[in-house]
Amino acid sequence: NDRLLSSESTLEDQSMERSIRPSDLEHYIGQEELKKNLKVFIKAAKERHEPLDHVLLYGPPGLGKTTLAMIIAGEMGAQIRTTSGPALERPGDLAAVLSSLEPGDVLFIDEIHRLSRHVEEVLYPAMEDFCMDIVIGKDDTAHSVRLNLPPFTLVGATTRAGYLSPPLRDRFGVISRLQFYSPDELSQIVRRTASVLNAEIRDDACKEIAGRSRGTPRIANRLLKRIRDFAQIETGGIIDKETARMGLTRLQVDEAGLDRVDHQLLEGMIHKFGGGPVGLDTLAAAIGEERHTIEDVHEPFLLQNGFIQRTPRGRVVTDLAYRHFHIERND
Ligand code: ADP
Repeated sequence: NDRLLSSESTLEDQSMERSIRPSDLEHYIGQEELKKNLKVFIKAAKERHEPLDHVLLYGPPGLGKTTLAMIIAGEMGAQIRTTSGPALERPGDLAAVLSSLEPGDVLFIDEIHRLSRHVEEVLYPAMEDFCMDIVIGKDDTAHSVRLNLPPFTLVGATTRAGYLSPPLRDRFGVISRLQFYSPDELSQIVRRTASVLNAEIRDDACKEIAGRSRGTPRIANRLLKRIRDFAQIETGGIIDKETARMGLTRLQVDEAGLDRVDHQLLEGMIHKFGGGPVGLDTLAAAIGEERHTIEDVHEPFLLQNGFIQRTPRGRVVTDLAYRHFHIERND
């Protein structure tokens, strides 16, 4: 169950997500500021009969970037084409996608920070002037030809805006950060997902799951799905608070929503490094996790909730974390 709380998506999530993704802004819970602004930008673009300006969405995995990209396309009455940074290995891969776009399409590039420099260079004129330069012929006869593209909207998603090269970042008209969700918002998401799944759930069970989902809808939905299994097989079908608590314990999710990896991370820092400061690479090696997984998936929530702090000399564990584990700080 190591991955139960990871906010990265799995194949199982993807099949479930098709059915439980909200399909318009009204059903997209939370992110109120962002939604309010997007509504204006979308309405204005539609009134001008223009595509929406390019949008960059950033924030930890599982917060709803892909969902929002789909909703933007839906609200614009446009088709969405989906790809990702790692899938676009060579400039030709991106050129092929761009040349297949229809007027007004939304092109969604997930993990856009992972585009190579060469691929990025194809994107610049496409974003700015809706055109691309392709080289025809070889050696002496090589010359570049400018191809016009239909107007389109690029929606890029990344875990961190800071990973993006400045020239790419500058070409987005809208740059928005997604926030962690409040327990109340997550409760609404859990309730909504339960009803899509035809699962009967009590309000206090929604709250219980919401409170332990690290502010992340994908985690809330995943926990709900597993707890539904416990309810179905062991406690008579209805998801009540007791079933939720039992399930969460069995899934090794603690009261604060911390999972096994968080425990390894924090306890590792406390026991092996005296609470820090410790560098990210050292820490990654010590607990056998990838550096980028710690940085993108685990750390943002631990930082936001005050379990760790970043200092110039590395990460340190806070008093709150010591108290959480009932460990005396001996310094
Ligand atoms: P990201 O692209 O940021 O990794 P996704 O858009 O794939 O995240 O969202 C993960 C899951 O959480 C999806 O199943 C989606 O339905 C759900 N979800 C995300 N944001 C919301 C929201 N605001 N309201 C309801 N469900 C959401």
